[in-house]
Amino acid sequence: MRLTYSSLLALLAVSACAPGAATPDPALLDGIARRYVVLALQLGHHDPSYVDAWYGPDSLKVLADRDTLPVMTIAASADSLVGILGTATPAYADSLVVMRHRYLRTQLQSLSARAAMVNGQKFNFDEEAQRLYGATPPTFSDAHFDSLVARLDLLLPGNGPLIERYTRFRAGVMIPAELVDTVFKVAIAACRTRTLAYASLPAGEGFALEYVKGTPWSGYNWYKGKAQSLIQVNLDFPIAVERAVDLACHEGYPGHHVYNSRLEEALVNGRGWVEFSVYPLFSPQSLIAEGSANFGIDMAFPGEERTAFERDSLFPLAGLDPALAEQNSAVRVVMEELNYGRNEVARRYLDGVIDSTAAIGLIERWWLQTPAAAAKTLRFIQVNRSYVINYNLGRDLVAAWVEREGGADRAARWRAFNALLSSPRLPADLQ
Ligand SMILES: [Zn+2]
Repeated sequence: MRLTYSSLLALLAVSACAPGAATPDPALLDGIARRYVVLALQLGHHDPSYVDAWYGPDSLKVLADRDTLPVMTIAASADSLVGILGTATPAYADSLVVMRHRYLRTQLQSLSARAAMVNGQKFNFDEEAQRLYGATPPTFSDAHFDSLVARLDLLLPGNGPLIERYTRFRAGVMIPAELVDTVFKVAIAACRTRTLAYASLPAGEGFALEYVKGTPWSGYNWYKGKAQSLIQVNLDFPIAVERAVDLACHEGYPGHHVYNSRLEEALVNGRGWVEFSVYPLFSPQSLIAEGSANFGIDMAFPGEERTAFERDSLFPLAGLDPALAEQNSAVRVVMEELNYGRNEVARRYLDGVIDSTAAIGLIERWWLQTPAAAAKTLRFIQVNRSYVINYNLGRDLVAAWVEREGGADRAARWRAFNALLSSPRLPADLQ
């Protein structure tokens, strides 16, 4: 029997949501999934950054491009699909299908919120983070961030104000421009080898590496499908040596490139779940994507291994003094905690508590950035808004989940991490 789209939805509504429906048919989610993909592509007509990756069937793209729906019609369609999915998740026999059901509901709720924002609706920072990414960022006092800055002060002894000592120290760990490509390629090879020791990757996977300027981000992975990525690195500012491992793991192995490749292999190809062939940037999936990409650095280089690799391989390769490696790592660890300072600046600036001058002042104070770099950070906040939480809160949620699932055993942690990268898990599934 050939079902029409509306009869499929009606069937799903009865099967998935009727009280006492004991054996829901997982295949009925396919109709919702196709509609979700079309709506995501259609929201992309209004919001050019929304569709970060798309490699699904042409038939759905044709359907999406056939007409440009008003943005609130897209929101209403998403809301109606959420209504069909219901508030309770049916008791599917397969736990991945349970996650799929929740994934579709959560992504559609987020899509509706993003459409409302494109239409001019304003949410405060915390509400926006919850609606778009499914998580509420914690708050910290000014004293907390100032105490972290005081730790930096101790790590960087010498004369003059901290900002001058910090800038001087950082100048000593920058990769000379002519060696950036060499250092990156060695870092990428190390991240890939360390990932392959614990994770299988699709045959033929790979990526192209490009250097660019003038972008609001420092690195980006554009996933193209068939296990291929384009990784771009922004050369606007000098690149510090620890950014090589950072970007190589985050954008490549076991970060975005691996996450997208595994979703494609396990869910799009393995199960025929078309919704994973589109990646909406402003959605809960980004918290998992950014969080796993950042925690992926710790997966590839646990404990002291990162510092040792940087000291023994990358510092010499970049012509830098390896004796600075441990101090550089200690500074990095504090700076990572100060990432929550960027969330706080974003919260206050976007909620209208402070203006752009005050925001740049706080970025200089808590991130020790030069005025030019601080202005660029503010620009990132203006463009991406509460997206900033995905990097650090996402990382911490993924870390806690992997540690809970895998304990202290390295192989067990990788099993948990790999399961995360191959499943429809979302922020709520980690908590
Ligand atoms: Zn990223």
